[in-house]
Amino acid sequence: MQKRFLITPGPTPVPPEVLSALSQPVVHHRAPRFTEILKQVVAGLKCIYQTQNDIIVFAASGTGAMESAVVNIVNPGDHVLVGSVGNFGERWKKLTATWGAEVIALDYEWGTKVVPADIEKALAADPAIKAVYVQSSETSTGVVNDIRAIGEIVAKTPAILVVDAISGLGATDLKTDEWHVDLCVAGSQKALMVPPGLAYVAVSEKAWAVVERCATPRFYYDYVTARKKMTGDSAQTPYTPAVNLMVAQNAAIDLIKQEGLENVFERHRVLSRAAKEGVKALGLELFGPDDPEANSVTAVKVPEGVDGGKIGKIARDKWGVWLAGGQGPLKGKIFRFGHCGYFGHSDIIVGLTTVEMVLAELGYDVKFGASAAAAEQVFMQSTVQL
Ligand SMILES: *Cc1c(COP(=O)(O)O)cnc(C)c1O
Repeated sequence: MQKRFLITPGPTPVPPEVLSALSQPVVHHRAPRFTEILKQVVAGLKCIYQTQNDIIVFAASGTGAMESAVVNIVNPGDHVLVGSVGNFGERWKKLTATWGAEVIALDYEWGTKVVPADIEKALAADPAIKAVYVQSSETSTGVVNDIRAIGEIVAKTPAILVVDAISGLGATDLKTDEWHVDLCVAGSQKALMVPPGLAYVAVSEKAWAVVERCATPRFYYDYVTARKKMTGDSAQTPYTPAVNLMVAQNAAIDLIKQEGLENVFERHRVLSRAAKEGVKALGLELFGPDDPEANSVTAVKVPEGVDGGKIGKIARDKWGVWLAGGQGPLKGKIFRFGHCGYFGHSDIIVGLTTVEMVLAELGYDVKFGASAAAAEQVFMQSTVQL
């Protein structure tokens, strides 16, 4: 027997209340009971998104919803601006290029943020830019972009702002309406505490005008079809949805409501701070800025002389703990703790002490317990339940 822990930024651990909701008998998706479930999920998501916009639900991984945010917007030859700060920014570039966009890329060094003034300049230089694509939380590096500042800039232009908040929504504050986010994409398996398989998008009025004029052929991901079916008293999804996952999402939304959204954000701030202070106490360096709002992921540089490729493997095989490695050019150079969703103080301690044992095995000079001690100091100052 080995007890296993997911200390990863997706999939994330699932609360027992949500697991038991998953085991309920399947509801028929044309039954009135399903309409009720769908309405509850949409209403709950609106609170988490902090939006009055329409919310569309797809049975898909997060990337499916990302693709939907391209096929409903981009005609071949359209100019789009992508602010890329990591692996998922690169995905926006690939996706928009796949659908024929003329991609203007603002590429930043991984571990840094999009500079809002650069977006302003790029939009001024090319008034044909139809949409701006960015991440809120860039999961590959742990960085969280300043969506409020970017939103203010894009709102003054005819372009729409598309935000991938797959690991950000529900972990770090994101005010969809107030910050002028036109399309906001999320997924069930990160801070929303449900297994993988559901993806969401919030669509603003400004975005609807673009969607309705977009001529790119699409079927499953067509927002117009989805909106027609998903609104009104007998709301349904156009095709068979992941019914049980939606029941589970409802249970997870209840947990978020019980805790209170502000407390959820504060819990994430404290856990993230504890993880960051913990690794620093081991003499390790954070990758990227030590940003109090970067709450979903803690990215850590692999110390000199340690084989970074072995950290995740030893953690998993010997200690039953999944940590995330580096992606793309960061492979072997960083490792990552996820702490978005169903995470509490004990998960951080498990993650940190596992890192201590793994690094010690790999020859790094570790003072056992130092990271946990630093994390405990942070927990003791918390004003919210962890
Ligand atoms: C996880 C993640 C994705 C991809 O989601 P999938 O469900 O794996 O398709 C995209 N963007 C960000 C920021 C993510 O964290």
